[in-house]
Amino acid sequence: MKFDWTKKAVAGHKRAMALVSVLMSALLMTQPAQAGSVSRIEANGSKITVSFDDLVEGASTFSLIGPDRIAIDIRGGTAGQGGYASGIVKSVRQGQYNPNTARIVFDLDRPAVITDGSFSQDGKSLSLSLQAVGQDQISHGKKSFLPPLAFRAEPPKNSYSVKVALGKPRDSVSLPKIYGPDDPSRPLVVIDAGHGGHDPGAISPHGSAREKNVTLAIARAIRDRLVAGGRVRVALTRDSDEFLVLEERYGIARRLDADLFMSIHADAAGNEEASGATVYTLSEVASDREAAKLAARENRANIINGINLGGATQDVSSILIDLTQRETMNISADFAKLLHRESSRQMSFRKIPHRYASFVVLKAPDTPSVLFETGYLTNKEDVAFLNSRAGRTKVATGVASAIESHFARKLAMR
Ligand code: ZN
Repeated sequence: MKFDWTKKAVAGHKRAMALVSVLMSALLMTQPAQAGSVSRIEANGSKITVSFDDLVEGASTFSLIGPDRIAIDIRGGTAGQGGYASGIVKSVRQGQYNPNTARIVFDLDRPAVITDGSFSQDGKSLSLSLQAVGQDQISHGKKSFLPPLAFRAEPPKNSYSVKVALGKPRDSVSLPKIYGPDDPSRPLVVIDAGHGGHDPGAISPHGSAREKNVTLAIARAIRDRLVAGGRVRVALTRDSDEFLVLEERYGIARRLDADLFMSIHADAAGNEEASGATVYTLSEVASDREAAKLAARENRANIINGINLGGATQDVSSILIDLTQRETMNISADFAKLLHRESSRQMSFRKIPHRYASFVVLKAPDTPSVLFETGYLTNKEDVAFLNSRAGRTKVATGVASAIESHFARKLAMR
């Protein structure tokens, strides 16, 4: 499926990248009953009007923060081009989210929610009221609007609601605790324990260790080691068994203005002999087929019941990598080499220790980021090592020493 962004969308998307919100439920239609195209979008003060050239099935809206946006999904709709922005709305983008749904995204200059909305009597336009709110007032409720019954070709009998169990709705403005020196001038590192909640990640055939638990234990060990070192500040994206979409993970790093982001994983392979760690950094072009396949596997964490909770990120991956990001990618690659150098004294690496691929979790444009696959849960020795306190201490020692050298180097260059 092609995600057809307009020119305006390209510029808009470079600015607006992190989707820091989760859709809590979604309506799936079995058959598209209507097919109207978006013919006009107008944002005027606190009013948004979306016009269609034919009838659509309905619409739903949700708010996103960091950056602040309102998204509108038009069921039974086809995306058109551009739109007029004014007031609180900085720009309008639209694209085909899936064959039956057009998505319109309004980039805002401050947080806002949709307070009210309705279709016109002829069912061909949707008016929405927008209200600016404080960041803490954003809730994740999804509002739905249906055109008047008389204008629907058939009642939506064949629609059914799918509840996506994501645990209780989280207040996405609540940022994690920052550990270490109470000094904002110290570098801040965000450690991300991969997977969590309903997503176990890889499962070991040896003693059934789950990746989500292994990564959390390693992330905590790294945090403790960094705190003991006293040189940098550190935060964890999650410190419990909870699910986060990939954009929320780097979104936390961006909102904390972190200087480094590291996502911790443990791989699985069909071949039980495969063992050792690999450091991955972001690239449009994967360094090999294996790296591309791994990125596809890790990126699937965003998809539940066929619904991509992360939005359109994967479809616009090449657009996202602009010049700012190239600089970030170079710093990330330098850090990856340092991580291998420092950690290879503590643990074993694969023959090619640093590889590249298009991981969603590494797509913060301005935060140097690496994904550390610490070993294979399908390998007996690796799982014993990663699942032991002694092994975790070694991983943490290597990682912490790489992080401390990285920032010492940066300081020396100033
Ligand atoms: Zn993983």
